[in-house]
Amino acid sequence: MKITILGNNSALPAYDRYPTCQIVQIDGMLIMVDCGEAAQILLKKHGISWNKIRYIFISHLHGDHYFGLPGLLNSMSLLGRTEPLYLFAPEPLQAMLQQIFDVADTRLSYTLHFKALPEEASILVNQTHFSLKCFTVEHRIFCHGLKVTEKSKGRKLLPERCRYYEIPSAYYKQLKSGADYQRKDGFFVKNEWVTEEAQKDKTYAYCADTLFTKSFLSHIANVDILYHESTYLEIDKERAQNRFHSTTHQAALIAKMANASTLVLGHYSSKYKSIEEFETEARTIFSNSYASKEGDIFEI
Ligand SMILES: [Zn+2]
Repeated sequence: MKITILGNNSALPAYDRYPTCQIVQIDGMLIMVDCGEAAQILLKKHGISWNKIRYIFISHLHGDHYFGLPGLLNSMSLLGRTEPLYLFAPEPLQAMLQQIFDVADTRLSYTLHFKALPEEASILVNQTHFSLKCFTVEHRIFCHGLKVTEKSKGRKLLPERCRYYEIPSAYYKQLKSGADYQRKDGFFVKNEWVTEEAQKDKTYAYCADTLFTKSFLSHIANVDILYHESTYLEIDKERAQNRFHSTTHQAALIAKMANASTLVLGHYSSKYKSIEEFETEARTIFSNSYASKEGDIFEI
């Protein structure tokens, strides 16, 4: 799994930083996480194929998280997209988009499947190799986080050993799920002789815009990478609280409490020219913290 940071700023574009937009890649399939105003430009700039985007997740309806969406959907149509696109977003967005398309007499070249985000934590997609799950965070308006899981592909087969023990390939699927094998001559082949330990699930949690709260900790426990907003430095803690946002220390505390492996910060206020201090401050509490920059790629 690969996470590319495109927009990393909060409401206003400033100092070459743009509103929130990220791309999560699993096996060549892309999931867009929020679609700030510069999304199309940033996709082009970083050579990311629009056609490979299958899912778009919009956390909430503050403009810095979706003002890029009508343009992107329109451009995909102009480019002749035929693959269906799945959009998960707060319910009012559906009518808003429809009105934009209606007044322009736009007919999309592809099917746009809209799914309104439910109020409770829910599985949005559950495929063989990955799943998407939403959960609520605490912001000034209804807002969701997203957990992306790339599922373990099972135990790793050792083909030479399988051939050595004369195991038919039709049985390989069972071997991957941990089964032993008994040959017709009665010889018993233990699973660990012909496979290696399974890779663990890979997990990424995106906590959108939120104030400091433990309310969603259960949904982000033990993730490999945790994205938690830190709109403000610690000195502006009161402002963060008033605006339903978080600080560096608060993001780091959540990462620590969730037992995450890596913390990625973002959604910086445009009042800060440099973002270096975000990393320094977060690392005093959670050492594996990174202040995300445009174009950064985090791999699991
Ligand atoms: Zn925001």
